[in-house]
Order: sequence, then C-alpha cells, then structure tokens
Amino acid sequence: KIRAIGLKKSFGDLEVLKGLDVDVHSGEVVCVIGPSGSGKSTFLRCLNKLEDITGGTVVVDGFDLTDPKVNLDSVRQHIGMVFQHFNLFPHMSVIENVMLAPVETKKSDKSKARENAVRLLAQVGLADKENAKPAQLSGGQKQRVAIARALAMDPDIMLFDEATSALDPEMVGEVLQVLRDLAKGGMTMVVVTHEMGFAREVSDRVIFMAEGYIVEEGSPDDLFGNPQHERTKDFLDKVL
Ligand code: ATP
Ligand code: MG
Repeated sequence: KIRAIGLKKSFGDLEVLKGLDVDVHSGEVVCVIGPSGSGKSTFLRCLNKLEDITGGTVVVDGFDLTDPKVNLDSVRQHIGMVFQHFNLFPHMSVIENVMLAPVETKKSDKSKARENAVRLLAQVGLADKENAKPAQLSGGQKQRVAIARALAMDPDIMLFDEATSALDPEMVGEVLQVLRDLAKGGMTMVVVTHEMGFAREVSDRVIFMAEGYIVEEGSPDDLFGNPQHERTKDFLDKVL
C-alpha cells in the first residue's frame, strides 16, 4: 500500500532522511521509534507529501507522489493523519468537526456524513459528546475526536505522529485503546510513538530510526528482545 524507495529529504544543507526503503502492506501496523531529531516526523510527513521529497520516491496505492501528474489531493483523501496537537475547530461542536471534511471535500450528503460521524464517535467512545465544544473536552477526548475526524474520510491508511505525547498520563491509555481497536479492525497504520509497550504489543513490525537512517527493523519481539545494532541497544536501554 505504501512504499518508500530511497527516500531522501533535506532542509537546505541539512539532510534529514538519507535514503529510506520502507514497505507497508495492507492491514499492517508499523511502529516507528527512535531518538528525537532522527527524522520520524519528517518521514511520516513525506508519506503524504506534506514535505517536498528531495530524492527517491513514495508510492501510495500505486500512485508515485513525485510524479507531477499525480493528483495529490485525491491520494491524500485516502490517508488519515493524526498529530500530537489535534487542532479541532473551537467554534464547532464535536460532531461538526467530524463531519466537516467529508461534507466540504468529498461533497458527502450531510445526513449521511452525520450518520457516519455518530458511528465514529461511538467507535472512539464519545457517543455522549456529539454536541460538546472542544474546550469542554479533556485532552484524551479531543485526541479521540481528532481520530474520528480522520476516520470520517474513510482512509485506507492512518498515520499517527506521537498522538499521545501531549496528553496527561492518565489519558494516554484511552487513546492507545482506540489505536489498538483500529489495528485489530485491519487498518493499515504507521505509528510514530514513544510508547514502547504499545509498539511491542500492537505492531506487526517495528522500525528503529536514527540520524536519518533505518538502523534496523523487525518483529517487535526481535527488535525489543534481541536488537542487533549497538545504536538500537543504546536507545532501548535509555527508554525501556
Ligand atoms: P522528535 O522525536 O523530537 O519528534 P523526529 O524524529 O520526529 O524528532 P523530525 O521532526 O523529523 O525528528 O526532525 C528531524 C530533523 O529535521 C531535525 O534535525 C529537525 O531540526 C529538522 N527539521 C524538521 N523540520 C524542519 C524544517 N521545516 N526546517 C528545517 N529543519 C527541519
Ligand atoms: Mg517528531
């Protein structure tokens, strides 16, 4: 479904991604871990071309994102993204936030979009918050609305960039549970996370990045239980 081939990204003279080869198959859950500044967020942003790609390419569902003829908007409609900061529209209710993109960009029928939003809010455990404003929600609740909002576009792939790291510890669990449920439901997911327990439990594959390279990747049991590289061992010693 997603394939990065020799992916490179520079900001001016700074080469942040130094040639990544990554394949994410349909239904697979891939967690990306690594030290701060290693390029995890940049990698994720290249997967829907929120960053210009400097070298190599990314192919999503057969569409080469570096091909100028590719319609990026339509490719991006199939990719949901959830960030650390949820950026809900404060003047809109929860359900309006979830309905907005389908109605505006997909020209979905309003009553269908509402029906779908009701279903998604129930899925993330917020059936009773439809009419609340974002300011009335906890951080964990806001993040679950942000996930419902991304799901409302009916994506084939979901990208998560540290979706829990701005949350108070007691709210991390409820958001991870939503990710866990999505994974069980067969969603294709790329998850950048500092939650090593979650990565170990939920991933089909874990990628360890450092300094713009993929240092190693493998099953969670192999990567966490039997890391092959010093750099990986060092990192895991620090975070586990
Ligand atoms: P963290 O774990 O702290 O989120 P990360 O692995 O996500 O780190 P990135 O945010 O991808 O790291 O950043 C990788 C490098 O690219 C860093 O050195 C960062 O300063 C640099 N960088 C990221 N975005 C930009 C930008 N827009 N302009 C210039 N440099 C950038
Ligand atoms: Mg980051």
